Amino acid sequence: MKESCEVAVVGSGFAGSLLARVLAIIGYDVVLLERGTHPRFAIGESSTPLANLSLERIGLRYGLSDCYDLAAHGRWLARYPNIRRGLKRGFTYYRHHPHQPFADEGLASERLLVAASPNDAISDSHWLRADVDHHFVREAIAKGVEYRDRANITDADIGADGARLIGTRDGTAFELRANFLIDASGPGGFLARQLAIPSGLERTHTRAALVYSHFDGVRLMMDLLPEMPEGPYPDDWAAVHHLIDEGWMYSLRFDDGVTSAGFLLTPQGLAALQSSGADPNALWRELLDRYPTIGRAFSAATPLMPIEFRPLIQHRLTRAAGERWAMMPHAYAFVDPLFSTGIAWGLRAVERLALAFEAAAPGRRVPGADIIARYETALSAEADQIDLVVAGAYEAMAHFDLFAAQAMLYFATVSFAEASQRLAPDDSVAGKGFLGVGDSVLGGVPRESLARLRAITRSRGEIGSSEQRREFAGWIAASVAPRNIAGLADPKRRNLYPVDFDALIEGHALLGMTRDQIIYALPALRGMSPLPPSLYALPASHLPPRASRLPLPASPRSPHP
Ligand SMILES: Cc1cc2nc3c(=O)[nH]c(=O)nc-3n(C[C@H](O)[C@H](O)[C@H](O)COP(=O)(O)OP(=O)(O)OC[C@H]3O[C@@H](n4cnc5c(N)ncnc54)[C@H](O)[C@@H]3O)c2cc1C
Repeated sequence: MKESCEVAVVGSGFAGSLLARVLAIIGYDVVLLERGTHPRFAIGESSTPLANLSLERIGLRYGLSDCYDLAAHGRWLARYPNIRRGLKRGFTYYRHHPHQPFADEGLASERLLVAASPNDAISDSHWLRADVDHHFVREAIAKGVEYRDRANITDADIGADGARLIGTRDGTAFELRANFLIDASGPGGFLARQLAIPSGLERTHTRAALVYSHFDGVRLMMDLLPEMPEGPYPDDWAAVHHLIDEGWMYSLRFDDGVTSAGFLLTPQGLAALQSSGADPNALWRELLDRYPTIGRAFSAATPLMPIEFRPLIQHRLTRAAGERWAMMPHAYAFVDPLFSTGIAWGLRAVERLALAFEAAAPGRRVPGADIIARYETALSAEADQIDLVVAGAYEAMAHFDLFAAQAMLYFATVSFAEASQRLAPDDSVAGKGFLGVGDSVLGGVPRESLARLRAITRSRGEIGSSEQRREFAGWIAASVAPRNIAGLADPKRRNLYPVDFDALIEGHALLGMTRDQIIYALPALRGMSPLPPSLYALPASHLPPRASRLPLPASPRSPHP
């Protein structure tokens, strides 16, 4: 075991392992410490186009072909069939009401589908985290990272010249000195405890409890609702969200049929139920009984591990970085799985910190204080923004029309970011604000949206009048219009949104392009791969500018409908 290194990373989720690997590739001496062992269960499985764009950029910049291949379902399946994943074509929402089956009212149903990709081959995936995180650890070790699992770090000191960690492994004491410390311990809260960093949770709005597991034998919603009009993709090959009075449920199907599912329950929602978290099985059963269509979907399902309960999933700290340390986003803050922001935000931080180390002065070998300060400011603003978008969505759950409108704020923001990033020629996009932070048009919309929603719901779940709801939807549509390149917030769509390249072409001016320019750029915008695999071997500094890279042949299709 080394007694010193340049960078110590605490926590070997995908974020810690990938950052450790990238730092090793750019020449740092890195030790990765993990209190558990791999493979291990982890929650947080549904990736998004922005997450995959980060993965692709990391893959291209640092010559990591696995990152590139894991960024599209077809490439993943072709190259890593043994790393389990699920096809995710988009975001599916249904609104359920207590003791009533989901009402199939054709196009008037309380159903919203937003496609995230035009076909299976380049679509996003749900990550079976046990497999994915294990893969990233193995790849980090292969690139020279010293990995220490079962590490129990009992003490940490951070000073002006670095960090000193004291701990034990298999009963043997160790001491490790590092010039810089990365906390990638997620909700484990390693540095929060060691540095006694106060909680900043009071500045956030979202609160939810969680009851969850992995299941076998969950039925497809498409089988339960056979008459439902066809959507832009098969409803179940998506992040499926069931909105209920007490909060919402996620249901993520992996390609092998295993489904990750959990109910997020607001404090009021949980209090209104008869069961409490003390008996997670009873709570689970009560929710299935209360919502008959969800109950039918899970009637023959068996949990693959005990159903678990967490009373509060949100956390937030008052610091995210200091002179010789930085936290990955999940160590600093977590809001809610609604809109699947976690993986994308974590990968963006991998990019940002890797670039910060690349920019370190040669003799100093640690990121400059100014960059670290910017990193901290960015995480703080982004955690606030995620919270505002999600808190607004929880308010909006009072009525499906409000929810569908609020969701457009998220989708307009991320689809604009995705297109802008696909068109951008370099990695500087990693520094851009997440979820509209810093965007002169969208930046302030989530805060105002939350205020408007609260005025309608009175924070008591009131649904307002149809006029108020129409007005809110109109306000959202107008607010996102200057960034709406995806044909969103259009009542004619009846809540079914495909990936719409015609809307993109028509919206060329919103991206600062002519019609011809955007047509020329369509392969990049469609997510066509910009780099042939043979170029992976090149050191990052020799990568050609993106515009001159060649398209890859199309990926094979997945076996799913
Ligand atoms: C209910 C729920 C659902 C979610 N769903 C989604 C989703 O669908 N999509 C999405 O994008 N995000 C989702 N997220 C967020 C997602 O889980 C996180 O963004 C992601 O797990 C962050 O990964 P990470 O590598 O930073 O941390 P983690 O995955 O939390 O890994 C932290 C690692 O650090 C280790 N560790 C902890 N403490 C110590 C210590 N003291 N010493 C050494 N090691 C330590 C742990 O054992 C673990 O291996 C969800 C989160 C929750 C709670």
